[in-house]
Amino acid sequence: MKIFAYILLCVCITLGCKVKQTKENENLIVCSTSITADCVRQIVGNRLTVKSLMGAGVDPHTYNPRPSDVVLLNDARLVVYTGFHLEGKMAELFNRLSERKEVVSFQLDFPKNKILYSDEITPDPHVWFDTDSWVQSMNGVVDKLVDLYPKYELEFRENFYKFLVKVQRKTKELKLKLSEVPKERRVLITSHDAFHYFGRTFDIQVKALQGVSTSQEPGMRDVVDLVDFIVEHDVKAIFVENSVSPKALKSVLSSVERRGHQVKIGGTLFSDALGSKGSGADTYIGMLSHNVNSIKEGLK
Ligand SMILES: [Zn+2]
Repeated sequence: MKIFAYILLCVCITLGCKVKQTKENENLIVCSTSITADCVRQIVGNRLTVKSLMGAGVDPHTYNPRPSDVVLLNDARLVVYTGFHLEGKMAELFNRLSERKEVVSFQLDFPKNKILYSDEITPDPHVWFDTDSWVQSMNGVVDKLVDLYPKYELEFRENFYKFLVKVQRKTKELKLKLSEVPKERRVLITSHDAFHYFGRTFDIQVKALQGVSTSQEPGMRDVVDLVDFIVEHDVKAIFVENSVSPKALKSVLSSVERRGHQVKIGGTLFSDALGSKGSGADTYIGMLSHNVNSIKEGLK
């Protein structure tokens, strides 16, 4: 079924089988993830309709497009995605879509000298945790929105400026908060390697069971290495993620306990997707606050 949906989507996009654009669709912006969708909403307010292909808690690395995504992507006036291969199985699709539709990524304006690499050639895609660079990368998205909707230019640019200031203030406040955890305890252990930018921004050492993508299961060696690290560094808490199964991390926890060391689950962090409505992590800024507060509470 998944393969069928993907083929249908590819055929539709290649052939350009367009659903007739209604007046309502002229104001439809389709974003890949809940994080990109929230950031776009902060710019366009109620002027446009912003929809996200992936909802709260959905893992973008392994996401397969659904048939309903075909309709949304075809209807959209503008498609916005993260880039850096975050949307693993959809990257080629967005590429192809850009030949006949307005498509923009956050990657376009992300400062090149701020990109972290997981190996010599693979960029780490979790760029939203470098809050300054992330907001900077929104310039390309805002310019595209202004191009398509020039009558809202002033409003969109003003909203962008307000959002930028809000993110800068929140980052400063959260940095201060996390700095209250003693340096030697400031170690963040999570399911997958989504927190390197976060670690650089908020000055915390990071370590994970899986690599920057969740598409490969962790091996026995990964588990053993992480267990050794937790015991040697006397780590008090490890953290599960909302978009990744906690199963593998729970097996780490059991192995650590068998070695006679006490470690707890410090809470759930939001890495690649926002939380559901009312969770407090249903916005980009809310997610940052939730993560820092949970880490501080877990490690104290
Ligand atoms: Zn990830």
